[in-house]
Amino acid sequence: MSPMMAQYHAIKADHPDCLLFFRMGDFYELFFDDAVQAAPALDIALTKRGRHDDADIPMCGVPVHSSETYLHRLIEKGFRVAICEQIEDPAAAKARGSKSVVKRDVVRIVTPGTLSEDSLLDGRSANYLAAIASANQQMALAWCDMSTGSFAALDVTASNLINEIERLQPGEIICDAPLLEAGAPLAALFGGWASRLAPSGQVKFDSSWAERQLCAYFEIATLASHGQFSRAQITAAGGLLDYLNLTQKGAMPRLEPLQSFAANQALQIDAATRRSLEILTSQNGGRAGSLIDAIDATVTQAGARCLADRLAAPLTDAGAIQTRLDQVDALVQQHVLRAELRAALKGCPDAQRALSRVNLDRAGPRDLVHIAAAMAIASQFKAKLANEEQALAQLGAQLCPPLELTRELSQTLVDTPPVNSRDGGFIRANVDAELDRQRTLRDQSRQLIVALEADYQQSTGISNLKIKHNNMLGFFVEVQSQHASKVPIGFVQRQGLANATRFTTEKLQELDEQISMAGERALAREFELLAQLLTAVKAEHEEIASTAKILAAIDVAAANAETAQIWRYQRPDISESAQLTIEQGRHPVVEQARQRDSADFTPNDCRLNDEAGKIWLLTGPNMAGKSTFLRQTALIVLMAQAGCFVPAAAAQIGIADRLFSRVGAADDLARGRSTFMVEMVETAAILNSATAKSLIILDEIGRGTATYDGLSIAWAVLEQLHDQIRARTLFATHYHELTQLRSRLKTLTCHQMRVKEWRGQIVFLHEVAPGSADRSYGIHVAKLAGLPAPVLKRAGNLLKKMESGEAPILVQKPADLPLFQASGQVADPSAIEEPAPGARDDQAQFGAVLLNKLAGIDPDALSPRQAMEILYELKALAEPPDDD
Ligand code: ADP
Repeated sequence: MSPMMAQYHAIKADHPDCLLFFRMGDFYELFFDDAVQAAPALDIALTKRGRHDDADIPMCGVPVHSSETYLHRLIEKGFRVAICEQIEDPAAAKARGSKSVVKRDVVRIVTPGTLSEDSLLDGRSANYLAAIASANQQMALAWCDMSTGSFAALDVTASNLINEIERLQPGEIICDAPLLEAGAPLAALFGGWASRLAPSGQVKFDSSWAERQLCAYFEIATLASHGQFSRAQITAAGGLLDYLNLTQKGAMPRLEPLQSFAANQALQIDAATRRSLEILTSQNGGRAGSLIDAIDATVTQAGARCLADRLAAPLTDAGAIQTRLDQVDALVQQHVLRAELRAALKGCPDAQRALSRVNLDRAGPRDLVHIAAAMAIASQFKAKLANEEQALAQLGAQLCPPLELTRELSQTLVDTPPVNSRDGGFIRANVDAELDRQRTLRDQSRQLIVALEADYQQSTGISNLKIKHNNMLGFFVEVQSQHASKVPIGFVQRQGLANATRFTTEKLQELDEQISMAGERALAREFELLAQLLTAVKAEHEEIASTAKILAAIDVAAANAETAQIWRYQRPDISESAQLTIEQGRHPVVEQARQRDSADFTPNDCRLNDEAGKIWLLTGPNMAGKSTFLRQTALIVLMAQAGCFVPAAAAQIGIADRLFSRVGAADDLARGRSTFMVEMVETAAILNSATAKSLIILDEIGRGTATYDGLSIAWAVLEQLHDQIRARTLFATHYHELTQLRSRLKTLTCHQMRVKEWRGQIVFLHEVAPGSADRSYGIHVAKLAGLPAPVLKRAGNLLKKMESGEAPILVQKPADLPLFQASGQVADPSAIEEPAPGARDDQAQFGAVLLNKLAGIDPDALSPRQAMEILYELKALAEPPDDD
């Protein structure tokens, strides 16, 4: 094995679960299995290099300068990549002897949750790394976004962990190994998130060690100075820090002080509700069709991330919600100011992410220019907002751009530094005397070369003589071969090509040396100056980070005001009551979709309180608009608590603590649970955790099983919601029978989606009105859906017959059920425990026959064979008759 291959194997052995990007000159090379996996994933050629164990070594490689594109593809496909660099000058290795190899080491492991490059990140969403650990029988989740510095922890239970994961949508999850062992409750929990689990065997999850790490990292004596944390939170946060250390190889990102996140400080939204309400992504996983897609008018990436965070975790504190609403309100009124702010923000770079690269020592001059530009905008805003009304003045006052530094950055760096800073050219002229001197020297010498070329052309009489440059020869004189004999004595041949000959001269060599030395000195000086700037930026880290955060908040406030104005959203009234009044509410997404089709959206009121009914039972045919009405109510509450104006003419919103939205019959085949099972698991979650302050949206609960099972379950759920939980509830159902409950359940009222029948067609009015629908119009809807005419006709006939009681009844009419008969109009759910009358008759008959038979038997007189025969007879009696 060659020494280099030995080096490769040693490094690879330490990083078995990563692809190894092995630096060789201008390329990152991959070998063996890594190459076999990466080549097809990157769509590049798989080649070979040398032999190992009597087989060719598979190899592929990517150029260093364009490696980010390739990294992006690999990370997206779920790979982790260890970047192995040459950590000494190849010349130093050569000096040790001809056989010695350049020292190499892994400088960073690129994983989905630890990205910092813009090209690897989605600018408009956060990229969280989450860690799960336990201590003292308690489990906790910690998370950070390395690209912005946010860092927080929260206690969780096995049942709400997944809800938090869905809220964060982490790019990567690490987990203390014992929690994942076979049989541990977590193993089955992750569902679709299992693919984001990173191998975390090497990560240390240990509470006292973690506490020391956190204190050392934040340079504090005790974590209490950041807040109160459970042992589990500390363990998870420490594990997270350790993972960052392992992957960043010590170049730690700067994180904000660890924040203890209390579950009740945000509106609790579980995973199923998130999916059902399509807050940040629609059911098909994309952004199109989601709430955020409809209302996001932010103009910066940081603003988009801030809005997404707010919608993912709306607030429960009235004061904090009012503060946000005040800001939006002020910018709705002040549209000129809003337009100015938005115009300025449009050109505002992403300072948060640039700053994170500075802290990781991965920043270039462009990052600094971006930070300077953002800080310059912030100082403009600070002045502008100071004279505005309180809500805006307060926001402006929180901006604290470091002015001195901003000036220094913009005066030192050119406006648009080259993409590749390797060759310099990013420091302005007249900033540094030494740099200027070297540059002048370099440039003057270049001019001298131009002059020399003209001089040589004249003295030799070769008009197409050229002075050229390449990395191998430096500067050289090139003449066409047929003129080569004409060159004077001082010309020394360096290279002969097919049709040209290259020479050098003493004068040229002198100039070449001057140029390259001056060039090198200038470059070195540029990097020195850059390093000083980077240090200065690091020193003002906190001011820059918090200013960038406030800029994002200003963007969100202005964007929400913009959306409010375009779509006529209004400011909601927020209170601590448990009431909800929405006048002329609309669904933010459906409204826009309808408008694209030039159709109107019909607004609807919703009043959930003791007088108007805390539970609304909503009936109406399919397609009448039930789901839309339910979801718009939930979305309006969510938007209000996130601090947005809402799509309604007016809204009074009693702050909800939890939001539940369930749609019956949603399959979760991916997780291997039947439709009905999913529905029941989700319903159980609501009944177990909803409170009187919650808002519950139930759509077609109980549809996934036989009619009477489903009806009974829906019934019992309603009773529980009414009698015990007393939460504000919208309950849409096809079980018209449930409307009979209104006479018994005091705060339940019935509402229907109005439809009109017109010449055998059904017209949906999309209007919510008091009362209950009398029919389902299923066949009308089937007709709209294009069911073939003969099928529709047959179904229509059957329906008529069934309704008049003459059809070959497959199922009994609901009214025949004991559920509705037992106590006249008002049904008694306890009757459900009694067998149905028909069944009761059959049983009685069977019992009589059995008794008769048994009475005629004298066991003592029976042979074993006769006894067997009687048993067979009895068995046959008990079996249902064959169906013909
Ligand atoms: P349901 O839940 O009763 O089956 P949906 O809520 O799914 O009905 O609504 C069906 C379609 O009707 C929606 O996709 C939407 O296009 C339209 N719709 C619903 N509500 C309204 C409304 N208030 N105004 C206008 N169109 C509506």
